[in-house]
Amino acid sequence: MSASINGAAQILRPPADGMPYLRHDRAAELSAEPGSVSTAGDDIAAFEAAADAEIQIDARGCAVIPGFVDCHTHLPFAGWREREYELKIAGASYERIAREGGGIRASARSLAATGDEQVLSQARALALEMLAHGTTTVEAKSGYGLSAEQEIRSVRLAAELSARIAQPLSSTALLAHAVPDGYDTDGWMGAVESMLPAVLAAGRVTALDIYVESVAFANRHLERMGELAAGHGLDLRAHVEQFSCQHSVPVALAAGARSVDHLACLAESDLPALASAETAAVLLPGAEFMGAERVAPARALADAGGICVLGSDLNPGTSPVLSMPLVIGLAVRRYGWSVTEALLAGTLNAAWVLRRSQRTGSLEVGKRADVLVLDAPIGHIPYRLGHNPVGLVFVGGRLAHVRPDCAWRVAR
Ligand SMILES: [Zn+2]
Repeated sequence: MSASINGAAQILRPPADGMPYLRHDRAAELSAEPGSVSTAGDDIAAFEAAADAEIQIDARGCAVIPGFVDCHTHLPFAGWREREYELKIAGASYERIAREGGGIRASARSLAATGDEQVLSQARALALEMLAHGTTTVEAKSGYGLSAEQEIRSVRLAAELSARIAQPLSSTALLAHAVPDGYDTDGWMGAVESMLPAVLAAGRVTALDIYVESVAFANRHLERMGELAAGHGLDLRAHVEQFSCQHSVPVALAAGARSVDHLACLAESDLPALASAETAAVLLPGAEFMGAERVAPARALADAGGICVLGSDLNPGTSPVLSMPLVIGLAVRRYGWSVTEALLAGTLNAAWVLRRSQRTGSLEVGKRADVLVLDAPIGHIPYRLGHNPVGLVFVGGRLAHVRPDCAWRVAR
């Protein structure tokens, strides 16, 4: 298939081709100039119109940007936890919610009680909704298993989901998420080590993840997870500094983590080392907003040249949010970022976290044609908060989504 996207008001492009990521103190070097883009097969072919392309797109007034890479989601999960959100809004503590059977354990019970087909159909519906909001690459974490059997199943379900959706999917094994009943933290880490070969055999896992928090795992477990990841040739990722400061960032950096995620409670003293490391700072403003958490020091991280990234943290507890345009809107408002900074964080730098930035995350000749045609210039993304600006979505050169009111733009 070939397509020609003609006469756009803005085409978002990086300052040079072949960059694995762009540090955030250089985000202003992205350009958004008028132009056209053509695709051939899976890839971007040229930054000019192609009169002989099979699909002609009228992009007048539109921004053309790379598809979003959502590098932090907890798909697949079973059901939702809206009752818990009501309790939280009314002021119930984390402890009370846990006592009343809520939290990660509630999602684990629900996953265990739900059949494969039902789990997959919920996850597939969410992936479709993500596609309509411009997400063309998805990450999926296990972590609602809380037993070897269910963690293995989660990784297998992620692989099955991957075969049923339009987007490429990266699978992460979040094997230390909460401490299962009958274990202490050290005991569960021993179980993680034992289950790892079977977990890895169940799917195509590329990273291990851990939740470090006063109510979950500690820095010594993060170190151990780093050793397990290195021993199996996997990336290390970590949920850190979400509700309290544990000074986990230096530990994660020493372990060679690919990313540290959340960071709402990042210590000022730990910021410079993170900003200069080749470790991404994955910020999750949807979770911060829904949980009335502290706001991550994203402005300072960007100014200091960090590899900043945005994700949805889509999960049934702390962030039932999947819209990257909404996440970008929150980041611009709450972090004091420019829209270009937020777009960089949701595209090229997010692709780097998943080791996919060679093929996707920016508009370059020869890269995958994961391309969005928005219904307005990029400034509308944060400004019209809650509006979905995504009109057309190409995934690997295939026109995978057309918003009905934008169908007039497409001529075949
Ligand atoms: Zn998460």
